[in-house]
Order: sequence, then structure tokens, then C-alpha cells
Amino acid sequence: MTVKHNNDEAKVKSSYQQHYNQNKLHKRLRRLTGQAIADFNMIEEGDRVMVCLSGGKDSYTLLDILLNLKMSAPINFDLVAVNLDQKQPGFPEHVLPAYLDSLGIEYKIVQENTYGIVKEKIPEGKTTCSLCSRLRRGILYRTATEIGATKIALGHHRDDILETLFLNMFYGGKLKAMPPKLMNDSGEHIIIRPLAYCKEDDIEKYAQIKQFPIIPCNLCGAQPNLQRQVIKEMLRDWHKKFPGRIETMFRATQNITLSHLCDTHLFDFKGIKKGDTAIDGGDLAFDREIFDAKTVPANTARFHNADLAAEDKILWKEIS
Ligand code: SF4
Repeated sequence: MTVKHNNDEAKVKSSYQQHYNQNKLHKRLRRLTGQAIADFNMIEEGDRVMVCLSGGKDSYTLLDILLNLKMSAPINFDLVAVNLDQKQPGFPEHVLPAYLDSLGIEYKIVQENTYGIVKEKIPEGKTTCSLCSRLRRGILYRTATEIGATKIALGHHRDDILETLFLNMFYGGKLKAMPPKLMNDSGEHIIIRPLAYCKEDDIEKYAQIKQFPIIPCNLCGAQPNLQRQVIKEMLRDWHKKFPGRIETMFRATQNITLSHLCDTHLFDFKGIKKGDTAIDGGDLAFDREIFDAKTVPANTARFHNADLAAEDKILWKEIS
């Protein structure tokens, strides 16, 4: 009898703990998304935001969190979910309409056979992604115009941003990541990435908890981007060996000292004259940067703790 009682108690405790953790995860995603929206002024009063929904974990999470934030946001804005059915073999076309109907929200499914075009134009064995994504981008921009969207929201997250940073550095010789907000080349569309501060791990867990009806992303049969995979592995490895490094690196993308890099287009090195005031970052001309091995993890830990302490607050209202 006592054993059964103890088992029941343990089950209640564990289910309470699970519920508590899930709640915390939801609040964290909500808070970080609200923070990114406020930091970059991503969504404004009266905006009509087109949320691109591919059927992957990231875009489902994006839509879910935006719908949630909309309920308590201090401003009015509309959300329209848009999916592009590219006619890939085996694409389960009923899944997204059924899901979106269940939410009762405005949506549009665009059907364009980009798969057929790519297959026809690109010889067997060659990479199809660049033409495919160019076609997709054009269709999504056109759709945004048709539905009167003022912003286009994409589901890229913090880890996508860091991976892109390293891809550009390692393979492109550029210090460039993926911007949380940008204007397209023609100046007609503003693209936003409200999950820019969210970790992929959190998104993955959230998608599992919410049991989003995920559509596989390999229907086109294209090989995964090997270079991105390599970077992903490298970052995962660093995360295991040096906890906090990913957070520190992301903070570095928000804390740039142009006068301590070497781009003569972005900083007027030629114009530096005797008598000028010291440039940002201070005078370290004769020293290399020194980091105390003890203080770096400590700072990172502080950042983590502040991050966790704030989880119970929904900052959308406070920030905007
Ligand atoms: S993986 Fe497939 S669907 Fe995605 S961009 Fe490449 S070709 Fe297109």
C-alpha cells in the first residue's frame, strides 16, 4: 500500500515538474520573441504580417508564438499564414490546411510547381537549391504584395544566424550573418525574423510538446547543405565542450567594434589624426586582448541567470 502511495506521489511530482518546465519553455520563447520584435521594431501598429509556413518545426513555432503574443500585444496587427506548395513528390497537401483550419486563422496556400521547373532546368546531380530558393522567394514576394502584407516573417532562429556567420567567414571571406530585419533588394518588402533570439533546441522541444504536424523537409530529394552541416556540428561540439560559448558568440554579433576590424569602407582609418579622442574599445595598441579564463564563464553564467530570472515576465509591453 505504502509503495503504491509513494509511486503515485512520484508520478504527480514528475508530471508537475514536466508541466512547470513546459510552461517555462513557452514563456522563454515568448519573451525572447517579444524582445527581438521590440529591439528591431519588427512589428508596428496596423501591420499585416505574412508568416511563411513551410511545415517545419521553426515556422510552426513562429506562427504559434506570434499568435500568442498578438493576444496580449499593446498594438494591433494581423497575421496571415502562407504556405507555398512547391509540388514536391509526396507533399501531404491536406496537413497544413487542416492545421490552419483548426486554429481558425487567415491563411493562403499558394500552389506553384517549382519542383518541376527545377527538375527541368537543372541537370541531374547538380545542386538545385539556388534556383529553387530564388523561385520560392519571387513567389513569396508576389504573394505578399497580393495579400497586402506589410512585413514577411520567417522562422530563422539564433542558431541559423550563427551558422550563417561562420559559413560566410569560412567559405565566403565575409563577416556577415543573417539579419533579424531587412529590406529586400527592390525596396518593396520588409523581412523579419522574430525568433532571432531563440535557441534551436528550445524550438525543437516546443515543437515536440505541441505535436505540430511536421512535414518532412527532404521531399525534393536534394542533398543537405554539407557545409552548413559541418558548421552545425562544430557549434554543437563547442556547446558541449564549452557551455555558454554559443551565447557569448551571439552577443558578439550585437556588440561590434568597427574600429577594431579591418574594413576601410566602414571605418575611416585613413582619417585618424594625432590629437583625436580615443576610439571605442580603448587603446590596446601594444597588447593582445586578454581574457581571464575564470571571468568569461562567470559572465556567461550571469547572463544565463538573468535570462532565467526574467522568464516569468512577458516583456512585450514593457519594452515597447
Ligand atoms: S532542399 Fe529542396 S526544397 Fe529546399 S531549397 Fe533545396 S531544392 Fe528547394
